[in-house]
Amino acid sequence: EDSKKDSQIREYHVLQMFTKAGNNRGLIDKFKLCFNSMMQKSSIRPDNGEILHLHLVSDPDSKAIAEGIVDTWLKKGLLKLSFHDPVQLTETLYPIVKPMQEKFSAGANAYYGDSIFFLSVGMHKVFPSDTKHIVQLDCDLKFRSDIRELFDMFDHFESDNVIGIAEEQQPVYRHTFWQYRNEHKGTKVGDPPPNGQPGFNSGVLLLDLDKMRGSRLYNSLLNGTVVHTMSEEFHFKGHLGDQDYFTLLSYRYPQLFHVLPCTWNRQLCTWWQDKGYQEVFDFYHDCAGEINIYHGNCNTPIPDG
Ligand code: UDP
Ligand code: MN
Repeated sequence: EDSKKDSQIREYHVLQMFTKAGNNRGLIDKFKLCFNSMMQKSSIRPDNGEILHLHLVSDPDSKAIAEGIVDTWLKKGLLKLSFHDPVQLTETLYPIVKPMQEKFSAGANAYYGDSIFFLSVGMHKVFPSDTKHIVQLDCDLKFRSDIRELFDMFDHFESDNVIGIAEEQQPVYRHTFWQYRNEHKGTKVGDPPPNGQPGFNSGVLLLDLDKMRGSRLYNSLLNGTVVHTMSEEFHFKGHLGDQDYFTLLSYRYPQLFHVLPCTWNRQLCTWWQDKGYQEVFDFYHDCAGEINIYHGNCNTPIPDG
Protein backbone atom coordinates (compact mmCIF):
# COMPACT_ATOMS: atom_id res chain seq x y z
CA GLU A 1 0.00 0.00 0.00
CA ASP A 2 2.83 2.33 0.91
CA SER A 3 4.58 1.79 -2.41
CA LYS A 4 1.38 2.47 -4.29
CA LYS A 5 1.02 5.72 -2.42
CA ASP A 6 4.67 6.61 -3.08
CA SER A 7 4.33 6.08 -6.80
CA GLN A 8 1.56 8.65 -6.96
CA ILE A 9 3.74 11.32 -5.44
CA ARG A 10 5.20 13.68 -7.98
CA GLU A 11 8.90 14.31 -7.42
CA TYR A 12 10.65 17.60 -8.12
CA HIS A 13 14.35 16.91 -8.58
CA VAL A 14 16.95 19.38 -7.30
CA LEU A 15 20.68 18.70 -7.54
CA GLN A 16 23.55 20.40 -5.76
CA MET A 17 27.27 19.86 -5.56
CA PHE A 18 28.25 19.83 -1.90
CA THR A 19 31.81 18.59 -1.70
CA LYS A 20 34.90 19.24 0.40
CA ALA A 21 32.73 20.75 3.12
CA GLY A 22 34.78 19.00 5.82
CA ASN A 23 36.80 21.97 7.02
CA ASN A 24 34.86 24.65 5.20
CA ARG A 25 32.63 26.59 7.64
CA GLY A 26 31.84 29.13 4.93
CA LEU A 27 30.43 26.49 2.57
CA ILE A 28 28.47 24.80 5.37
CA ASP A 29 26.81 28.11 6.32
CA LYS A 30 25.99 28.81 2.67
CA PHE A 31 24.39 25.41 2.25
CA LYS A 32 22.32 25.89 5.43
CA LEU A 33 20.98 29.24 4.27
CA CYS A 34 20.24 27.92 0.81
CA PHE A 35 18.51 24.77 2.02
CA ASN A 36 16.48 26.39 4.79
CA SER A 37 15.30 29.27 2.61
CA MET A 38 14.41 26.87 -0.20
CA MET A 39 12.35 24.65 2.10
CA GLN A 40 10.66 27.52 3.94
CA LYS A 41 9.49 29.18 0.74
CA SER A 42 8.52 25.98 -1.05
CA SER A 43 4.89 25.00 -1.58
CA ILE A 44 5.91 21.54 -2.81
CA ARG A 45 4.63 19.40 0.05
CA PRO A 46 3.54 15.78 0.44
CA ASP A 47 0.02 16.88 1.45
CA ASN A 48 -0.33 18.13 -2.16
CA GLY A 49 0.93 14.78 -3.46
CA GLU A 50 4.30 16.33 -4.27
CA ILE A 51 7.78 16.18 -2.79
CA LEU A 52 11.16 17.80 -3.32
CA HIS A 53 13.83 15.21 -4.10
CA LEU A 54 17.22 16.64 -3.23
CA HIS A 55 20.25 15.04 -4.90
CA LEU A 56 23.57 15.89 -3.30
CA VAL A 57 26.93 15.15 -4.86
CA SER A 58 29.00 14.66 -1.73
CA ASP A 59 32.11 12.89 -0.45
CA PRO A 60 31.64 10.98 2.83
CA ASP A 61 32.56 13.90 5.14
CA SER A 62 30.32 16.34 3.29
CA LYS A 63 27.51 13.78 3.25
CA ALA A 64 27.57 13.50 7.04
CA ILE A 65 27.44 17.29 7.38
CA ALA A 66 24.56 17.62 4.93
CA GLU A 67 22.58 14.89 6.72
CA GLY A 68 22.77 16.89 9.92
CA ILE A 69 21.47 20.02 8.20
CA VAL A 70 18.50 18.47 6.37
CA ASP A 71 17.61 16.05 9.18
CA THR A 72 14.49 17.72 10.62
CA TRP A 73 12.84 18.15 7.20
CA LEU A 74 13.73 14.60 6.27
CA LYS A 75 12.34 13.09 9.48
CA LYS A 76 9.08 14.95 9.00
CA GLY A 77 8.81 13.35 5.57
CA LEU A 78 8.93 16.73 3.83
CA LEU A 79 11.93 15.84 1.68
CA LYS A 80 13.42 12.98 -0.28
CA LEU A 81 17.19 12.76 -0.19
CA SER A 82 19.75 10.94 -2.38
CA PHE A 83 23.51 11.10 -2.35
CA HIS A 84 25.76 10.67 -5.35
CA ASP A 85 29.40 9.77 -4.92
CA PRO A 86 31.61 12.26 -6.80
CA VAL A 87 34.21 9.56 -7.52
CA GLN A 88 31.67 7.25 -9.13
CA LEU A 89 29.99 10.12 -10.95
CA THR A 90 33.33 11.22 -12.40
CA GLU A 91 33.86 7.72 -13.75
CA THR A 92 30.50 7.82 -15.54
CA LEU A 93 30.98 11.35 -16.74
CA TYR A 94 34.55 11.23 -17.98
CA PRO A 95 33.91 9.38 -21.27
CA ILE A 96 30.90 11.62 -21.98
CA VAL A 97 32.61 14.96 -21.50
CA LYS A 98 36.20 13.94 -22.33
CA PRO A 99 36.10 14.89 -26.03
CA MET A 100 35.04 18.41 -25.22
CA GLN A 101 37.07 18.71 -22.04
CA GLU A 102 40.25 17.85 -23.93
CA LYS A 103 39.86 20.72 -26.34
CA PHE A 104 39.59 23.24 -23.56
CA SER A 105 42.22 22.21 -21.07
CA ALA A 106 44.84 24.94 -21.41
CA GLY A 107 47.64 22.84 -22.83
CA ALA A 108 48.02 19.19 -22.11
CA ASN A 109 45.54 16.52 -21.17
CA ALA A 110 42.07 16.69 -19.75
CA TYR A 111 42.31 16.27 -16.03
CA TYR A 112 40.10 13.40 -14.94
CA GLY A 113 38.87 15.19 -11.81
CA ASP A 114 37.69 18.19 -13.86
CA SER A 115 34.85 16.15 -15.36
CA ILE A 116 32.64 16.90 -12.40
CA PHE A 117 32.58 20.59 -13.43
CA PHE A 118 30.81 19.43 -16.59
CA LEU A 119 28.17 17.41 -14.77
CA SER A 120 25.30 19.60 -15.96
CA VAL A 121 26.44 19.25 -19.58
CA GLY A 122 26.08 15.45 -19.49
CA MET A 123 23.36 15.17 -16.84
CA HIS A 124 20.87 13.73 -19.34
CA LYS A 125 23.14 10.71 -19.78
CA VAL A 126 23.83 10.25 -16.09
CA PHE A 127 20.28 10.23 -14.73
CA PRO A 128 17.78 7.49 -15.65
CA SER A 129 15.27 8.32 -18.35
CA ASP A 130 12.34 8.59 -15.94
CA THR A 131 13.94 11.78 -14.60
CA LYS A 132 12.48 14.43 -16.88
CA HIS A 133 13.66 17.68 -15.29
CA ILE A 134 16.40 18.69 -12.86
CA VAL A 135 17.01 22.06 -11.27
CA GLN A 136 20.72 22.35 -10.45
CA LEU A 137 21.65 24.93 -7.84
CA ASP A 138 24.81 26.41 -6.35
CA CYS A 139 25.05 26.34 -2.55
CA ASP A 140 25.62 30.09 -2.18
CA LEU A 141 21.99 31.01 -2.86
CA LYS A 142 19.09 32.33 -0.82
CA PHE A 143 15.51 31.76 -1.86
CA ARG A 144 12.96 34.54 -1.47
CA SER A 145 10.34 32.79 -3.63
CA ASP A 146 8.76 29.40 -4.12
CA ILE A 147 11.02 26.95 -6.00
CA ARG A 148 7.85 25.66 -7.72
CA GLU A 149 7.99 28.77 -9.89
CA LEU A 150 11.33 27.55 -11.30
CA PHE A 151 9.81 24.19 -12.23
CA ASP A 152 6.86 26.00 -13.84
CA MET A 153 9.33 27.69 -16.20
CA PHE A 154 10.00 24.39 -17.98
CA ASP A 155 6.51 24.81 -19.47
CA HIS A 156 7.61 28.06 -21.07
CA PHE A 157 10.58 26.62 -22.95
CA GLU A 158 10.36 27.02 -26.70
CA SER A 159 10.66 23.84 -28.74
CA ASP A 160 14.45 24.08 -29.29
CA ASN A 161 15.28 25.16 -25.71
CA VAL A 162 16.98 22.47 -23.64
CA ILE A 163 18.45 24.49 -20.75
CA GLY A 164 17.18 27.44 -18.72
CA ILE A 165 19.89 29.78 -17.43
CA ALA A 166 20.24 33.42 -16.36
CA GLU A 167 22.70 35.91 -17.79
CA GLU A 168 26.03 36.67 -16.16
CA GLN A 169 25.76 39.98 -14.27
CA GLN A 170 29.37 41.15 -14.58
CA PRO A 171 31.44 41.95 -17.72
CA VAL A 172 33.23 38.57 -17.44
CA TYR A 173 32.64 37.60 -21.05
CA ARG A 174 33.26 41.09 -22.36
CA HIS A 175 36.74 40.41 -20.99
CA THR A 176 37.02 36.77 -22.13
CA PHE A 177 35.95 37.53 -25.70
CA TRP A 178 37.95 40.75 -26.10
CA GLN A 179 39.83 39.49 -29.15
CA TYR A 180 36.71 38.36 -30.98
CA ARG A 181 35.04 41.68 -30.09
CA ASN A 182 38.06 43.54 -31.37
CA GLU A 183 37.91 41.73 -34.70
CA HIS A 184 34.12 41.99 -34.99
CA LYS A 185 33.16 45.59 -34.26
CA GLY A 186 29.50 45.89 -33.42
CA THR A 187 29.14 42.26 -32.32
CA LYS A 188 26.70 41.47 -29.55
CA VAL A 189 29.04 38.83 -28.14
CA GLY A 190 29.93 39.99 -24.63
CA ASP A 191 27.75 43.11 -24.86
CA PRO A 192 25.41 43.94 -21.95
CA PRO A 193 21.63 43.48 -21.86
CA PRO A 194 19.09 44.24 -23.06
CA ASN A 195 20.44 43.97 -26.63
CA GLY A 196 23.75 42.20 -26.09
CA GLN A 197 24.80 38.65 -25.24
CA PRO A 198 26.64 38.97 -21.91
CA GLY A 199 26.98 35.20 -21.45
CA PHE A 200 25.59 32.99 -18.72
CA ASN A 201 25.93 32.25 -15.02
CA SER A 202 25.34 28.66 -13.95
CA GLY A 203 24.28 29.23 -10.32
CA VAL A 204 20.68 28.34 -11.21
CA LEU A 205 20.21 25.82 -14.02
CA LEU A 206 17.02 24.37 -15.42
CA LEU A 207 17.96 21.13 -17.15
CA ASP A 208 15.21 19.69 -19.31
CA LEU A 209 16.69 16.20 -19.42
CA ASP A 210 14.06 14.89 -21.83
CA LYS A 211 14.82 17.64 -24.31
CA MET A 212 18.56 17.30 -23.77
CA ARG A 213 18.22 13.59 -24.60
CA GLY A 214 16.01 14.28 -27.60
CA SER A 215 17.92 17.20 -29.13
CA ARG A 216 20.05 16.08 -32.06
CA LEU A 217 21.70 19.47 -32.13
CA TYR A 218 22.65 19.49 -28.45
CA ASN A 219 24.09 15.97 -28.55
CA SER A 220 26.02 16.64 -31.74
CA LEU A 221 27.74 19.50 -29.93
CA LEU A 222 29.15 17.24 -27.22
CA ASN A 223 31.64 16.33 -29.89
CA GLY A 224 35.25 17.46 -29.55
CA THR A 225 35.64 18.65 -33.13
CA VAL A 226 32.65 20.97 -33.03
CA VAL A 227 33.70 22.52 -29.75
CA HIS A 228 37.26 22.91 -31.00
CA THR A 229 36.04 24.74 -34.12
CA MET A 230 33.89 27.03 -32.03
CA SER A 231 36.61 27.87 -29.54
CA GLU A 232 38.92 28.73 -32.46
CA GLU A 233 36.27 30.90 -34.07
CA PHE A 234 35.69 32.87 -30.88
CA HIS A 235 39.36 32.80 -29.74
CA PHE A 236 38.13 31.21 -26.59
CA LYS A 237 40.78 30.27 -24.09
CA GLY A 238 40.62 29.24 -20.50
CA HIS A 239 39.72 26.60 -18.06
CA LEU A 240 36.18 25.78 -18.74
CA GLY A 241 33.35 25.04 -16.42
CA ASP A 242 29.80 24.35 -17.59
CA GLN A 243 28.96 28.06 -17.61
CA ASP A 244 31.75 28.89 -20.06
CA TYR A 245 30.69 26.00 -22.27
CA PHE A 246 27.03 27.09 -22.30
CA THR A 247 28.08 30.67 -23.01
CA LEU A 248 30.19 29.63 -25.98
CA LEU A 249 27.40 27.40 -27.32
CA SER A 250 24.90 30.24 -27.02
CA TYR A 251 26.92 32.47 -29.34
CA ARG A 252 26.36 30.01 -32.17
CA TYR A 253 23.14 28.26 -31.05
CA PRO A 254 21.08 30.65 -28.89
CA GLN A 255 17.95 28.59 -29.58
CA LEU A 256 19.18 25.93 -27.12
CA PHE A 257 18.71 28.28 -24.17
CA HIS A 258 15.77 29.73 -22.33
CA VAL A 259 17.03 32.90 -20.60
CA LEU A 260 15.79 33.21 -17.01
CA PRO A 261 14.87 36.61 -15.55
CA CYS A 262 17.80 38.23 -13.68
CA THR A 263 15.77 38.14 -10.45
CA TRP A 264 16.02 34.32 -10.36
CA ASN A 265 19.82 34.40 -10.12
CA ARG A 266 20.63 37.79 -8.67
CA GLN A 267 24.43 37.71 -8.55
CA LEU A 268 25.95 39.93 -5.88
CA CYS A 269 29.65 39.66 -6.80
CA THR A 270 31.22 42.97 -7.92
CA TRP A 271 34.80 41.76 -8.39
CA TRP A 272 35.00 43.07 -11.98
CA GLN A 273 33.80 46.56 -11.09
CA ASP A 274 37.27 48.03 -10.44
CA LYS A 275 39.17 45.95 -12.99
CA GLY A 276 38.87 48.50 -15.77
CA TYR A 277 35.16 48.16 -16.45
CA GLN A 278 33.76 50.96 -14.22
CA GLU A 279 32.02 52.68 -17.10
CA VAL A 280 30.08 49.68 -18.31
CA PHE A 281 29.73 47.68 -15.10
CA ASP A 282 26.20 48.82 -14.22
CA PHE A 283 24.87 47.86 -17.64
CA TYR A 284 25.73 44.26 -16.76
CA HIS A 285 25.01 44.37 -13.05
CA ASP A 286 21.67 46.18 -12.87
CA CYS A 287 18.66 43.96 -12.24
CA ALA A 288 15.25 45.56 -11.80
CA GLY A 289 12.39 43.93 -9.89
CA GLU A 290 11.77 41.88 -6.76
CA ILE A 291 14.60 39.44 -6.16
CA ASN A 292 13.50 35.78 -6.21
CA ILE A 293 16.92 34.20 -5.58
CA TYR A 294 20.05 35.90 -4.28
CA HIS A 295 23.37 34.44 -5.41
CA GLY A 296 26.24 35.41 -3.11
CA ASN A 297 28.88 34.55 -5.66
CA CYS A 298 32.61 35.14 -5.05
CA ASN A 299 31.83 34.88 -1.32
CA THR A 300 29.68 38.02 -1.29
CA PRO A 301 27.47 38.27 1.81
CA ILE A 302 23.74 37.97 1.15
CA PRO A 303 21.53 40.73 2.63
CA ASP A 304 18.97 39.85 5.31
CA GLY A 305 15.33 39.60 4.38
N1 UDP B 1 31.28 23.68 -4.42
C1 UDP B 1 31.43 22.63 -3.54
N2 UDP B 1 32.58 22.55 -2.79
C2 UDP B 1 33.57 23.46 -2.89
C3 UDP B 1 33.42 24.52 -3.79
C4 UDP B 1 32.25 24.60 -4.55
O1 UDP B 1 30.56 21.78 -3.43
O2 UDP B 1 34.58 23.33 -2.18
C5 UDP B 1 30.06 23.75 -5.24
C6 UDP B 1 28.92 24.47 -4.53
O3 UDP B 1 27.69 23.91 -4.96
C7 UDP B 1 29.09 25.86 -5.04
C8 UDP B 1 29.45 25.59 -6.50
O4 UDP B 1 30.32 24.48 -6.42
O5 UDP B 1 27.93 26.65 -4.89
C9 UDP B 1 30.10 26.73 -7.25
O6 UDP B 1 31.05 27.37 -6.44
P1 UDP B 1 30.78 28.85 -5.93
O7 UDP B 1 29.32 29.04 -5.70
O8 UDP B 1 31.69 29.10 -4.73
O9 UDP B 1 31.29 29.71 -7.17
P2 UDP B 1 30.82 31.20 -7.58
O10 UDP B 1 29.33 31.18 -7.71
O11 UDP B 1 31.30 32.12 -6.51
O12 UDP B 1 31.50 31.42 -8.89
MN1 MN C 1 27.83 30.32 -6.60
